[in-house]
Amino acid sequence: MRAFRQRSALFMHCPFCAANDTKVIDSRLVAEGDQVRRRRECLACGERFTTFETAELVMPRLIKQDGSRQPFDEDKLRAGMQRALEKRPVSIERLEAAIAYIKSQLRATGEREVKSLVLGELVMTELQKLDEVAYIRFASVYKRFQDLNEFREEIERLSREPNQGR
Ligand SMILES: [Zn+2]
Repeated sequence: MRAFRQRSALFMHCPFCAANDTKVIDSRLVAEGDQVRRRRECLACGERFTTFETAELVMPRLIKQDGSRQPFDEDKLRAGMQRALEKRPVSIERLEAAIAYIKSQLRATGEREVKSLVLGELVMTELQKLDEVAYIRFASVYKRFQDLNEFREEIERLSREPNQGR
């Protein structure tokens, strides 16, 4: 197996033909979550290869509703969740665990860019597990920034899905 160490998923070139259009086939955390091991397939020549990417560098960028891209901002995520959790009986440890889980889920998509809606959905799912009041607070704010139909569909979908444990 040929393995390639890459500094960033944003500059992922095929080692066989140098095309930069590659598809992630499989993605998993290794080395206690510090690295992401990915199987990729080159869309130009069809060759497959494995990369080991540093976890903090492979957070996908967020695609906002207006099409603009933003880097993932952990501080912003934490601040938003803390705002929803204000004066609620949820420990810092549980909040940090939820943030770590959300990040791992974003990384596990294997995508360079994901819709900000995906993040919003993850946050809502985690807040719902932590505290119902915080969930409603977050959802009511979140709703104002999203297309209403899309939001409604997500809520319906979330409520249909069984609450999966970790
Ligand atoms: Zn190639």
